[in-house]
Amino acid sequence: MAKAVAPVTGPEDEFFWDGVREHKLLIRRCSGCKALRHPPSAMCPHCHSQDWETQEASGRGTVYSWILARFTRGEDPDPRLVAIVELEEGVRLVSNLQGVEVDGVRLGMPVAVSFEEVDGVLLHQFRPTGGA
Ligand code: ZN
Repeated sequence: MAKAVAPVTGPEDEFFWDGVREHKLLIRRCSGCKALRHPPSAMCPHCHSQDWETQEASGRGTVYSWILARFTRGEDPDPRLVAIVELEEGVRLVSNLQGVEVDGVRLGMPVAVSFEEVDGVLLHQFRPTGGA
């Protein structure tokens, strides 16, 4: 299996990974019009302000899309479920799904964030909540 690698951060997403280290899911919010945006970009696409702050997301969302990622050279005993999760705040982000098999994933399935070490790297992951 391809191993998880530590995120390479830059000026636009360093706050996000600082949040993950504190077990917080931080989303960039425009200081001008208060719109949330993810992935974080320098300029607000709505009002063009470059001033921003962060909002801690609830961590609750639903599965918007998913794939089963396999390492294609040889056998991959542990392929990963990679999903786009739509947070209840309205933004979408890429993550992995844990605690569910590929046959159990459903569009719109409720999930919640969980901060877990994957190959020694602390990452935001999502797990089914079992709600409707
Ligand atoms: Zn704005």
